Amino acid sequence: MDKKKNCNIHCTVKQCANNLETEDFCTLDMIRVGTHESNPTVPECTDCNSFVKRSDCCH
Ligand code: SF4
Repeated sequence: MDKKKNCNIHCTVKQCANNLETEDFCTLDMIRVGTHESNPTVPECTDCNSFVKRSDCCH
């Protein structure tokens, strides 16, 4: 499958199946971002909800 880099979504999460590992970019046209906090205050409170675990990592 040919992955196409989305220059608008920089991402370093190489464990994600949607990441273009050779460059730090997402390959999706759009992503969904959310939070696991009731009152988010710092970047760490937010999540990429489009994350999909790569099948060949993170065992
Ligand atoms: S889906 Fe989210 S975590 Fe995965 S590469 Fe795209 S931006 Fe990164």
